[in-house]
Amino acid sequence: MAMSCHDLAVPGIKSLKPYQPGKPISELEREYGVSNIIKLASNENPLGPSPMAQKAISDSLADLALYPDGNGFGLKQALSARHEVAQDSITLGNGSNDVIVLLAEAFLQPGSEAVYSQYAFAAYPIAVQCTGATARVAACNSSSSPAPMGHDLDAMAELISARTRLVFIANPNNPTGTWLPAGALRRFLQAAPDHVIVVVDEAYWDYVEEPDYPDTTQWLADFPNLVVTRTFSKAFGLAGLRVGYSISSPEIADLLNRVRQPFNTSIPAQVAALAALSDHEHMSRSVKSNCDGLQQLSAGFKDLGIDYVPSVCNFILADMQRPVADIFEALLRAGIIVRPVGNYGLPNHLRISVGLPEENTRFLGALESIMAGLAPA
Ligand code: PMP
Repeated sequence: MAMSCHDLAVPGIKSLKPYQPGKPISELEREYGVSNIIKLASNENPLGPSPMAQKAISDSLADLALYPDGNGFGLKQALSARHEVAQDSITLGNGSNDVIVLLAEAFLQPGSEAVYSQYAFAAYPIAVQCTGATARVAACNSSSSPAPMGHDLDAMAELISARTRLVFIANPNNPTGTWLPAGALRRFLQAAPDHVIVVVDEAYWDYVEEPDYPDTTQWLADFPNLVVTRTFSKAFGLAGLRVGYSISSPEIADLLNRVRQPFNTSIPAQVAALAALSDHEHMSRSVKSNCDGLQQLSAGFKDLGIDYVPSVCNFILADMQRPVADIFEALLRAGIIVRPVGNYGLPNHLRISVGLPEENTRFLGALESIMAGLAPA
């Protein structure tokens, strides 16, 4: 009997469920014929990119016939100054998602294991499964914890075995918006055995203002097996360019470099990221706007009697106490894209990215009318 191409694929890929991105604005326009759409679905910066980054991109257009600097010298130099680490500790990625995949490729294979938490960022299961390694998923914090649904580091530590090579910790985590304080994370790293690489994913780092929230890039000298990932997609407002990075020991960076595509960050991405790093004004406006937006959305949810997970990120996870398909659909018809998170095993939750004040107001108003029209849960 003839084999289908599906049969030829490696086992991890055959059973893979692809990442489900937020609905793009253009798709909603096409499908629903609505205009004046707001997208609160992909944790993007509603202020847009830094004007300095935009100028750097325009200035780079004449160079686009050339390949980018495969080593990203200028950007790495700036990152090395910012984090006070050697340039050979930095690995650039096509978004930090790319670095997550490089880590999986470099350290996992069939027979090895990776540990992450229930409700952790969706890229971890995909990256792990592609390698044929086994995922060990730790139960999350209980609803009575101060970080409900967040990572339970003790439960994660218990899943570490002789076969574990990678542990993924999102701090803070998407889609829960929960975070881990310095003490607990340091204790976890101290106890982690030498054969385990601990990846601390700090995609939302710039937004977090809690006094006890760590900058783990400062801990690299203490923990040779620590890898910290960061991105320009969130507070820096450059999601469309795809640029992120990891900081690790030079030894780990060298391994990642062996699997990295030589030109995985483009010329516009490198110059824009470099310019964005020095636009402190845009960063503080972005963080302030997000902080106000988190308060606005939280207060709105309280008024509507909707439970939510307290968040330090640029989104909030709301528990609608019923399957969300109808609410999601009604919001789409009102021109508002949010994110259902059934793919995380949370069919009753919606994740709402923080928008501009008027966008948050419009979302809360639409939600209020939709809920008024629903039968009680
Ligand atoms: N880590 C976390 C926790 C995220 O939420 C995201 C984006 N959704 C990423 C990493 C990857 O972002 P990017 O590839 O755009 O850097």
